[in-house]
Amino acid sequence: MAIEQTLSIVKPDGVARGLTGEILRRYEAAGLRPIAMRMLRLDAEAAGRFYDVHRARPFFPDLVRYMASGPVVVSVLEGEDAVARHRTLMGATDPAKAEPGTIRRDFATSIEANVVHGSDAAASAADEIAFFFSRLELCPRPR
Ligand code: UDP
Ligand code: MG
Repeated sequence: MAIEQTLSIVKPDGVARGLTGEILRRYEAAGLRPIAMRMLRLDAEAAGRFYDVHRARPFFPDLVRYMASGPVVVSVLEGEDAVARHRTLMGATDPAKAEPGTIRRDFATSIEANVVHGSDAAASAADEIAFFFSRLELCPRPR
């Protein structure tokens, strides 16, 4: 398996409910190392641009409002097969369909307010990392 990087967002509900530490703990316990991290608040323009792929979907306006409703914690995770392994830790988009023990099953309150974002492929991960971080902000550790 290749070493990959992926983007995580602890969404506004996750930050507001004090779940940031528990979510980051799960990443590190699973061998996904944070190599960049920042708290910020998206405005509607930036939230819409981040989720541009969903612009035509009926849930898009609500999704933008939700993502701009409070601070988020964005991080880049690095590790073996990081994109897929992060998605496994997160669980399905709809918490009712997420496996027991996943972040969304344990903490999400709806299909919208589902606590975390994770890139869905290596190519989207590269785009999403560049959306938030410059090259000099990534701190891969020597192995
Ligand atoms: N979402 C929603 N309603 C839906 C599907 C998605 O509100 O029916 C929101 C939810 O917050 C989700 C985000 O839009 O995480 C992006 O949707 P996507 O299908 O990319 O799910 P993800 O990759 O986050 O699992
Ligand atoms: Mg997605």
